[in-house]
Amino acid sequence: MIVKEREIPLKIEQIDALLRNLVPNHFKVSVVQHDLKKRSAGYNGEKAIDYHLSFLSGKKYMIFNDLRLPLPPYHFQIDSLLVTPYYCLILEIKNISGTLTIDPEFNQLTKYYDGVETGFSDPISQAQRQSLLLQRFFYENKLVMPPIVYLVVISNPKTILKIANGQKLTPPYTKIIHAQNLIDEISKLNSKFTKETASKKDISKIKRVLLNSHTPLYTNILTNYGLEKSDLILGVRCEICSGKMERQHRTWYCHSCKFTSNTAHERIIEDYFLLIKPSITNKELRTLLGIQSPKTARLLLNALNLKTTGSTKGTIYHKEFH
Ligand SMILES: [Zn+2]
Repeated sequence: MIVKEREIPLKIEQIDALLRNLVPNHFKVSVVQHDLKKRSAGYNGEKAIDYHLSFLSGKKYMIFNDLRLPLPPYHFQIDSLLVTPYYCLILEIKNISGTLTIDPEFNQLTKYYDGVETGFSDPISQAQRQSLLLQRFFYENKLVMPPIVYLVVISNPKTILKIANGQKLTPPYTKIIHAQNLIDEISKLNSKFTKETASKKDISKIKRVLLNSHTPLYTNILTNYGLEKSDLILGVRCEICSGKMERQHRTWYCHSCKFTSNTAHERIIEDYFLLIKPSITNKELRTLLGIQSPKTARLLLNALNLKTTGSTKGTIYHKEFH
């Protein structure tokens, strides 16, 4: 049972919004596009794992995708977490292409792709670290803790896993597996962990705490790319011809192609939250949309059902990302 669906990562949504709003032919476009391609490949790799996990049936599995949990003063992130009354399984998902050679003697991984050999940060130590952090998270939130185990899953079925010359695959490297073996590995865990450590009540508490604690990472994307607000063309634009739209008689009107829309402002407000900051005031909205009337701005904002703080003129509307 999927308790937390995998959604498009906030970073990808921010990059998409950036590409929509960067001034045409901006010199950073290619860098941003390259990042988008890399991140999308990672996301698609994670979705490929979801396909394999969809074969798990029954209520005993709770699947949490893409969790980011607080452990003050930091946060840690888990690609997928499987919670059962018998054990918890952390999946560290790797989208690697080419050949991956494991050298157990030197704790070293090498990736060979397109004629280039590169060292690879050890995903095992990464997964081990996440296990420790998750243990601490359970402990600090006073949750009953089933044994925590992990697997590193290679999402690309074409990736070749190799052992360095003359060596044998030994633990912990046996925990690096191909996605197509994931279900088999989970069956093995089911045979290994037969003692029910968490009751129904414990499990529902774990579920509640994990879902409530999840905090997606919001970063200032303009700062990330060394950009300024002036690098953007923020404004209401026509979905047909991309022309500038103006508010006329309670609707948005495109002077170039005469298209009208009642909802054309929604896209740019979403983009504002992704690109500038996750909150907006009445005055900031008027500047963004190029409108004069505070009353119109209030009506448009109220229709978006955002959380608010403050009152009357000082009201701040907040976007909450999940
Ligand atoms: Zn138009």
